[in-house]
Amino acid sequence: MTQRVGKWERTVYSSEVSVVRGTPQGGVLSPSLLVGGVCDMLLYVLIGFTVNYADDTSSLISAADYEQLYQNARLSADMLQHFCEANFLVLNASKSVLVQFRGRKQNEYPQINLAGQIIPCAEQAKFLGLHVRQDIASGMTKYLGMQQLLQINSNDVRKLVEKKVLARVRKNRSEFVEVIQEKNLAFGALDLASVDLVEFPLMSLEDRKQEWRGKELHGRFLRVLESQNVDKEWSTEWLRTSGIFGETEGFILSIQDEVISTRGYQRHVMHQDVSDRCRLCRVQNESIQHVCGGCSVLAPREYLERHNNVAKVVHQALAKNLKLQEEEQPYYRCKPPQVMEAGAGGVRLLWDSEMVTDRAVEANRPDIVFIDQRKKEGLIIDIAVPLDANVERTVVEKKRKYQPLAVDLKEIYNLRKISVVPVVISTNGVVLKEWKKLMETLPLTTNHLKLMQKAAVLGTANIVRKTLAL
Ligand SMILES: [Zn+2]
Repeated sequence: MTQRVGKWERTVYSSEVSVVRGTPQGGVLSPSLLVGGVCDMLLYVLIGFTVNYADDTSSLISAADYEQLYQNARLSADMLQHFCEANFLVLNASKSVLVQFRGRKQNEYPQINLAGQIIPCAEQAKFLGLHVRQDIASGMTKYLGMQQLLQINSNDVRKLVEKKVLARVRKNRSEFVEVIQEKNLAFGALDLASVDLVEFPLMSLEDRKQEWRGKELHGRFLRVLESQNVDKEWSTEWLRTSGIFGETEGFILSIQDEVISTRGYQRHVMHQDVSDRCRLCRVQNESIQHVCGGCSVLAPREYLERHNNVAKVVHQALAKNLKLQEEEQPYYRCKPPQVMEAGAGGVRLLWDSEMVTDRAVEANRPDIVFIDQRKKEGLIIDIAVPLDANVERTVVEKKRKYQPLAVDLKEIYNLRKISVVPVVISTNGVVLKEWKKLMETLPLTTNHLKLMQKAAVLGTANIVRKTLAL
């Protein structure tokens, strides 16, 4: 469209501005007109694999060596520029990014020129609504990795685009769309003319799971979820209701899928020439498991803080239930007092306190102890946030570990009964089937259970982010 005149309104009208070329901003037909204008781009940009989606253009360029790669990238950018110039379009280098998928050679970026400017390099970019990262390779998370990208061919892109766009086209059939469809022959990834407008077969959920399960490393988390004593629904509850930001959610899923660029991953999966020793303790292999829950350097502060956040949820619920405290505060803000008491020596709630007993017992400092001398009841509560694989063992160990203390306290306070209650949730939020039963022994609501899970997975995400500087 040429020679239009525009006028803009906020509270007053602007003066008239001559619009020499372009489609009207916000016009219903504008996107289609633009697509009609640029759909032959792929006939001109012959290097690499170019995908157009609305006004976004992405090029995937690969080569056997760096020299060839950079040369191809430059050629492709030149071709793109010529096409745009011929069609009165302007390229904006500052709105473009270059993501380089690294092989063994690192820290070397080509200078690719677009319309007189160098394209900035980035670690990730958005591609057809998916995040593409230079160092990550996973199919089931929201991230597309290098392996997947290299496997994408024009058919896959068409499938993606079809799912996203054609559903809408089908819904709004109009004469105009039909004309566009007829004229849009083999140009562009959309290739509407040859698209059979029948329902697109989607992979079934079971097929997807089967594929996920089949992956040795990335399937490990699914195999944990499906193991006999794990509560699958509750282990994934945070995804439904925690309200965690999408980006953090994706990050946590990547941790669960073990596609985080730890030194171990760089060396053993990406086959890069780096040491796999942990950057903090320098003793063990820096796997994602090690960072999440196995590093001696992270134990005294980072793991303890995550553990305490989960414990605080339990402590506050008890304190409020016993009317020792009026309102529950967010766990990250509260500092439980070591001793809370009500009545003349009737009810005591202890936080991280050493218990004095007649006989010396080895484990005498559980996270929380509750003693009600009037009802002659007591609880020993100990919290743990172990790795996925250790949840079951930890529950059993906690029960055994505090049994001697339970016997002693029962005697000292002349209690009718005292129970040891382990509260165990994995670094990835995995819980056992008895998780819900906590609500029978402790004054917890489903909301408390969700909060504890949020504290655990967010804690893990923060630790990984901080440690690996991601
Ligand atoms: Zn370490």
